[in-house]
Amino acid sequence: MKTLWAVVLTVAELAAFEYGLKPVHVNDKTYCFFGAPEVMNTHNNGNMVNSCFVDAGGSYLVIDSGPTYLYAKEAHMQINALKPMKVSHVINTHVHDDHWLGNGYFLAQGATLAGPTPFEHAIHSQETPRMALRISKAAYEGTTPTVPSKLIAQSGSLHVNDMEVQIVHVDHKAHTSGDLFIYIPSIKTLFAGDLVFNDRIPSLRDGDLNGWIKALDQIASYGAQTLIGGHGVRFDAKAAEFTYGYLTRLRDEVRSAIEEGVTIDAALERIVMGEYKSAAMYDVMHRANVEAAYRMLEWEE
Ligand SMILES: [Zn+2]
Repeated sequence: MKTLWAVVLTVAELAAFEYGLKPVHVNDKTYCFFGAPEVMNTHNNGNMVNSCFVDAGGSYLVIDSGPTYLYAKEAHMQINALKPMKVSHVINTHVHDDHWLGNGYFLAQGATLAGPTPFEHAIHSQETPRMALRISKAAYEGTTPTVPSKLIAQSGSLHVNDMEVQIVHVDHKAHTSGDLFIYIPSIKTLFAGDLVFNDRIPSLRDGDLNGWIKALDQIASYGAQTLIGGHGVRFDAKAAEFTYGYLTRLRDEVRSAIEEGVTIDAALERIVMGEYKSAAMYDVMHRANVEAAYRMLEWEE
């Protein structure tokens, strides 16, 4: 009987869920894992978001810890295969759960976790994360929602070993009501979180259209050589172009419709923005974005 249990346990261990994550070399100091341009489901199991590791000399800084405990663990294992180091710091760019449910793994490794102030509410929330409901049990295994203990309410600099890391707190509602972006001057690299999307239509649901565009103008002022968003595979200096183009076009078209006295229903039919139809998630996101934009802009002066 004992032998049988040993066999069963070994098989169970072998069957532990794996994502098959592959790190992408972004620049000298940065490796990222880029997720699929999809909503979370039992097929991608939350691997639909970006997570990056920065070699800060002596330890890693992680920007967004990914969708689950097992994802974070596997990502760290992959990075360790390139250069083994502990993760000393994790920064979560905003409260959407695909960006921070990997925190529990890094906390257990002794990392310091930081994120914007809206995490204050998440601490007391008893709500089950969307992730837990939408991906497979095997992939979610071991995940405990772990909010950052260091809450960031204003912009400032952090030193990770000898590396200066600027954490910029967006002082108005943009993608959410508490967004951070991170700029590392020594490598001219900017981590934009969900202020930048590529390969898929962004979600305006929890944000503010004008505030988001303003945040993108702020990001542009840094002149980063490497710019990495929260979703989508693109990391050159112009990686914000797609999001900026989409949001400014949406703003202009919705504004014109309102000025012409077009009703919201008619605006939904009219504002198709056809050249974005080929982008992933157009069908699930675009109409909702037009509606959200209309409701935001109809109160403009
Ligand atoms: Zn988000």
